[in-house]
Order: sequence, then structure tokens, then C-alpha cells
Amino acid sequence: MVVENPIVDLLVVGGGTAGIIGATTAAGFGARTLLVEQARTGGDCLWTGCVPSKTLLSAAEHAMTVHALTGQPPRFAAVRQRIFAAIRTIEPVDSPAALEAAGVQVITGTLTFRTPGVAEVDGTTIRFRQALIASGAAPVNPGIPGLAPRRLSPRTRSGNSMPFRRGWPLSEAARSPANSGKPSPASDRR
Ligand SMILES: Cc1cc2nc3c(=O)[nH]c(=O)nc-3n(C[C@H](O)[C@H](O)[C@H](O)COP(=O)(O)OP(=O)(O)OC[C@H]3O[C@@H](n4cnc5c(N)ncnc54)[C@H](O)[C@@H]3O)c2cc1C
Repeated sequence: MVVENPIVDLLVVGGGTAGIIGATTAAGFGARTLLVEQARTGGDCLWTGCVPSKTLLSAAEHAMTVHALTGQPPRFAAVRQRIFAAIRTIEPVDSPAALEAAGVQVITGTLTFRTPGVAEVDGTTIRFRQALIASGAAPVNPGIPGLAPRRLSPRTRSGNSMPFRRGWPLSEAARSPANSGKPSPASDRR
């Protein structure tokens, strides 16, 4: 892969919200800007965070209204379709093509810093003046008893069933005999 500019003014690591805004702002000021994204531009906000979660809330409200008026139960398949449609609508705004149109060079790959002013993306050397690290974050388990990480079952992740039925997933506390029969607290159903 050939990076057009031998030295970029701003190297942006990560094509999530922070990287996209940083890169387009810098390019708007005339800086030679290169953004490196290892997966899909758009980041958490587009694919798993803001967009799907707010669409889910709006779809849930709609489903409850329909349920109240017609007695029809919510259809999770329809909710999923609505979420995917929202992502598809916004995706072009965060796309590499939109970034390139804003003057940002985009390459796909995992960036590693080598020495000051030098980085590497899958074997390609990049020289830069400044870097913006916008590589996101990951949750950590604070180790509080009862907060053991829960995984969604593959069926829930890929299927059209409702992900959070009453009583699943339960925290260790909610599993105890003293709490049996009570619905799990809202904090367990995230
Ligand atoms: C369920 C949920 C709902 C949310 N709702 C809202 C909301 O309503 N409003 C709001 O403001 N915020 C919301 N957020 C928070 C918001 O999604 C995040 O704050 C935002 O997405 C963070 O953006 P970011 O650019 O910092 O990181 P990310 O979006 O995580 O992007 C980082 C990118 O860097 C890339 N990357 C990492 N390392 C490398 C590397 N070495 N080389 C190349 N690329 C790399 C990753 O692939 C990733 O694409 C929500 C979050 C969640 C989880």
C-alpha cells in the first residue's frame, strides 16, 4: 500500500466519532491528514452505540404504542430491521468516501507507533508531524462481587428473539434463594 504524502501533518488513529471529527476538522484547516481505521469507519457510535441504542428506544416506544392500541405483541425482527435501516442511513456520512471528499486520506489497517514521528500500518511506514489517538475504549470489570461479565448467547446476538426476557440474565445476587421470583434489576438487563 502506498501512502501518497511522505509526511502527513496529522495522523489520526481510529475512525470512530472522535477520529472522524478530528480528521475532518484538521483537513478543513488545510492540514494533510491521514486517518487509519482497522475495522469500519463510524466506530462504536454508528455500529453498536448511539445509533442502534437510540433507534431501539424509539422502536420500543413505537411497539408499546402499537401494543396499547391493537394488542399486537412487539416483533423483535421488525425492531432489528429498523435498527439496521438507521445504521444504513447514517453510514455514508461516516464512510471513507465522505472522509476522502472532506480532504482526509483514509487507509484500512492496524496502526502501530514505531518511533517518534514514525508509525506503521500492516507493513507500510507512515511519517507524521502530529498524531491524534482516537482508538476508543473498552469496558473493564471492576471486580465487584456479582458483577461477573455476562455474554449474550449466540442465538440472541444473531437471532430475532427478544434479548432480555424476564429472569435472564440474572446477577449472582438475583439468583440467590432470597431473591427468587423477583424480576432482575434494570442494571442487570443491559
Ligand atoms: C450502548 C451505547 C450507547 C451510546 N449512546 C450514546 C449517545 O446517545 N450519545 C453519545 O454522545 N454517546 C453515546 N455513546 C458513546 C459513544 O458511542 C462513544 O463515546 C463514541 O463512540 C466513542 O468514539 P471514539 O471515536 O472515541 O471511539 P470508537 O467509536 O470506539 O472508535 C475507535 C476506533 O479506533 C479503531 N482503532 C483502535 N485501535 C486502532 C489501531 N491500532 N489502528 C487503527 N484503528 C484502531 C477501532 O477499530 C474503532 O473503530 C454510547 C455508547 C454505547 C456503548
